Amino acid sequence: MVKASVSPCGLLELDVQQMEQVKLFQALIFNGLFGKLFTGSKSSNSSREFILNKDDNLIWNNANMYLLLPMDPTLESHDSFCINWRVIDEAATAVRLMRKIHSDGKMNLLAILDFDQIYGDLIHLANTSCEVHTLRNVAVLAVHTGKIYTALHVTDLSANSTFDGVSSKKESGFKTFTEYFEKKYDIVLRHPSQPLLVLKPSHNPHNLLSSKIRDEGYGENKNDGTTDVIKVNNRVHMPPELLIPLNLPEDILRAFYLFPSLMYRMETLMLASQLRSEIAYDSNISSFLILEAITTLRCSEDFSMERLELLGDSVLKYAVSCHLFLKFPDKHEGQLSSSRIDIISNAALHRLGIKHKIQGYIRDAAFDPRRWLAPGQRTNRPFHCKCPVDYEVVTKDIHVIDEKPTIKIGQACDKGHRWMCSKTISDCVEAIIGAYYVGGGLRAAVAVLRWLGVDAEIEEELIMQTILSASMKTYVPKIDLVEALEAKLGYAFSVKGLLLEALTHPSHQESEERYSYERLEFLGDAALDILLTWHLFSSHKDTDEGELTDLRSASVNNENFAKVAVKHKLHHFLQQSSGILLDQITEYANSLENSSMDEINLSSDAPLRGPKVLGDIVESIAGAILIDTKLDLDVVRGVFKPLLSPIVTPENLELPPFRELLEWCNKNGYFLGIKCTDGDKIQAILDVQLEDVLVIRRGFGKNKKDAKAHAASMLLKDLEEKGFIISKNAIRTEQFQKQCGSENSCYNMFDAMDTQVLTPFWGNESAGPVLDKPVHVAVKTSKGGPRVALYEFCKKLQWPAPKFDSVKVLPSSACPPSGGSSVKATPTQEFFASTITLHMPNSDVISLTGDGFADKKSSQDSAALLMLHELQRRGRLQVQEI
Ligand SMILES: [Zn+2]
Repeated sequence: MVKASVSPCGLLELDVQQMEQVKLFQALIFNGLFGKLFTGSKSSNSSREFILNKDDNLIWNNANMYLLLPMDPTLESHDSFCINWRVIDEAATAVRLMRKIHSDGKMNLLAILDFDQIYGDLIHLANTSCEVHTLRNVAVLAVHTGKIYTALHVTDLSANSTFDGVSSKKESGFKTFTEYFEKKYDIVLRHPSQPLLVLKPSHNPHNLLSSKIRDEGYGENKNDGTTDVIKVNNRVHMPPELLIPLNLPEDILRAFYLFPSLMYRMETLMLASQLRSEIAYDSNISSFLILEAITTLRCSEDFSMERLELLGDSVLKYAVSCHLFLKFPDKHEGQLSSSRIDIISNAALHRLGIKHKIQGYIRDAAFDPRRWLAPGQRTNRPFHCKCPVDYEVVTKDIHVIDEKPTIKIGQACDKGHRWMCSKTISDCVEAIIGAYYVGGGLRAAVAVLRWLGVDAEIEEELIMQTILSASMKTYVPKIDLVEALEAKLGYAFSVKGLLLEALTHPSHQESEERYSYERLEFLGDAALDILLTWHLFSSHKDTDEGELTDLRSASVNNENFAKVAVKHKLHHFLQQSSGILLDQITEYANSLENSSMDEINLSSDAPLRGPKVLGDIVESIAGAILIDTKLDLDVVRGVFKPLLSPIVTPENLELPPFRELLEWCNKNGYFLGIKCTDGDKIQAILDVQLEDVLVIRRGFGKNKKDAKAHAASMLLKDLEEKGFIISKNAIRTEQFQKQCGSENSCYNMFDAMDTQVLTPFWGNESAGPVLDKPVHVAVKTSKGGPRVALYEFCKKLQWPAPKFDSVKVLPSSACPPSGGSSVKATPTQEFFASTITLHMPNSDVISLTGDGFADKKSSQDSAALLMLHELQRRGRLQVQEI
């Protein structure tokens, strides 16, 4: 973990000459460290060019320039001389030397180097000579490549030694180092008998912002066709005369590796704070919160907007619901709901987002450190615009502009076009609302809504009017009823009429007043939503957004509230005049009371779904308390916490059976076969090939979803019996089967579902016959290729996915290091060896171990490739390397 802090040291003034020096320093370090000092190459047929030879205005863009300079900690921090000028000047001198060497588009080393005499045991560098020991851990700049290295020690090798370190096939023809430099770089070495220096190369800049990318290891995404393969602990041999020493301490050098990620993070935080000043709400909402709200999953960082979006969604719904409820006392629930949809729909939020240019703040691509530029520098690696538009700002749907769009979501082109999904924008709007709610409560969230132009103001006067008109409604207060319920709730209403309204079903026409609980239900629904969502959001901080969504939908739904109503006997207070409704409620209540309240009841004589009215009155009571307390959500929370407990947690969250099955398969490397057939009843056949067993189940339902759910629940039960799974759905399935024993006897969530239990197919055959025509498997030889090919092959045949077991092999001292300009990981360094195991169903288990590699993934590729060839030998497939 890297921690950085920023502290101001006041204003520093630099004169023209100093500016010149610091710019050279900055350009040298950030380009040299990441191998970007030269453009073009012989192989790409463009002449190599030292970029700092270009005109100043081709290199620098003063509009976004800032300086990153080393300090000298030994100096007073408030002294303008705290800048480490010694290091800067040395770097600037090196640039000037490089410019001389690379003037006129060719290299003139001879003109620069003039050390004919050998002084004792001095080492001759490009511009100076020094004693060997002074070079240790010094940063050096290679004059021919512009790369920066750290010098380690001298070797016994000289430039006349055999050249055996090659990084590409083209280089295998060189006999000696002398020949290599002469033919490849047109450099005639002056001191070919000098010992070579062993150097540690600088590495590519890494994205340190993503723990995902950090943990998977660097160099994973190198699919750019270069030979820049991962080089763990590589060492490079180099003639000293090609090196300019930079008097740069190693700690400063190391610190510079962090800058791409560090400065990128600072820039994004500034982006967040710019949005904050745009919203201009006078409260200190943290930049990190806003940053989270404008970061998508695509950025692969450790945070993203989804959790805040979920919260913001419920905050928005709540604020708008309160506003509409109070502002339109004469509109019924249907009208209120439709007005609410008009305001909070994705389309509406998208429009508002565009209007306020939210899209410009959204971060929708992972940080690519290879495209990072030193502050103020112009890119010399253009990303040409191929977008089908010729104007700068585009807010139209790409499909309107271009029928077959070739655009890529994510990275911006040179013209600054950046394409994103329209849903990303509406999601971000919600996430910003969520962020302000977290940082400053409802008041802050409403301020964002005001900024967006969403009318969600709450006028005190309207609350008073609502309360007043509710108190007039209470013509004949049913005082016994009200008091009994108040005691149960632990809350005494100031306006009893509100509670009566909350309990009155539309069928109930006893009083002359025409009112029902529906408007209060509209309000209470939003209130319980925000309370439960906030509870889940704040009590499950490490839960990912997917699970949080599952938790929310499991808690905030009518069915859940219906159970709450029965559990606390709230249904006894319902005022209604419908015989059918009463029967339904009684039946549902009895079925729940006869079983444990903690499980979902599926016994054959219980209707699974409670009548909607039961869930509704829980919500309407919440709405009534909210109005009675003049919108004090805390009181509603206090009353409802005991009623709603236990609130679902990740541990007792139940997934729908099909999703649970799919997730189990994905997690354990099995492939789920799915077939659906039409007919009188929709039929779904699901099968999973385990190591030696094929499990098949057939389910029925009124649609594909129900049929798959039915089959999945039985399959889960099978897997549980075989000890593969501890299913949360086990109880459900048991009841399912009990009830489905006789045909057409069930009426439940699967609605008169027929069922047929297939005898599981215990395959005794081998894993399919050896094929006459083996499957052709195209295997990419690039990294990841063999693993993907094997996985796809297994998926096709529905074999259990192969498993890898990788071990780190520690260095053995038995093998001496070999020389060369670029030594691949030798056995003196640790490496990974991977064993792959493939279980061919009802047949052999094949276990093979691949070659050792410095990184784990490559060793797995090697094992996967062996496996593919073994399968070819057995006639299962035909490998085609591509
Ligand atoms: Zn473009």
